[in-house]
Amino acid sequence: MYQILIILSLFIVFKLCDWIIDEVREWKVKRDILSDPILRYEYYKGSYSYKKMKKLKRMSHNDYLNTQHWELARSAVLKRDENRCADCGISNEKKPLEVHHITYIRRGKEHLDDLMTLCQDCHQERHFVSTAFE
Ligand SMILES: [Zn+2]
Ligand SMILES: [Zn+2]
Repeated sequence: MYQILIILSLFIVFKLCDWIIDEVREWKVKRDILSDPILRYEYYKGSYSYKKMKKLKRMSHNDYLNTQHWELARSAVLKRDENRCADCGISNEKKPLEVHHITYIRRGKEHLDDLMTLCQDCHQERHFVSTAFE
């Protein structure tokens, strides 16, 4: 009887260790994902519900720019473009940078290729050119 109890408690201790190792591993993976803006964006985007995406697609542009989604997308694009304007190459230390939608087709679940980093001047230029042709 006594031996069975020892075996049983050893088994429980082993299971517990296994569980802790797994939890730590998962926590490390999550930490790595969340510390990189690009992986973080993909991680959160993958977890959106259909309802949330529908809401993001329908809200006004100003509301959209205030969402956590846009903040995540913005950081990812700035990281990918190394905090430089994609048109003139100026860095964020010299001019404030903005993130421009090349297409709104996937609004709420944008691919990073749908977005680009631009300085204020190049951004205005892009919008001027695009409206001039519309
Ligand atoms: Zn520029
Ligand atoms: Zn724009």
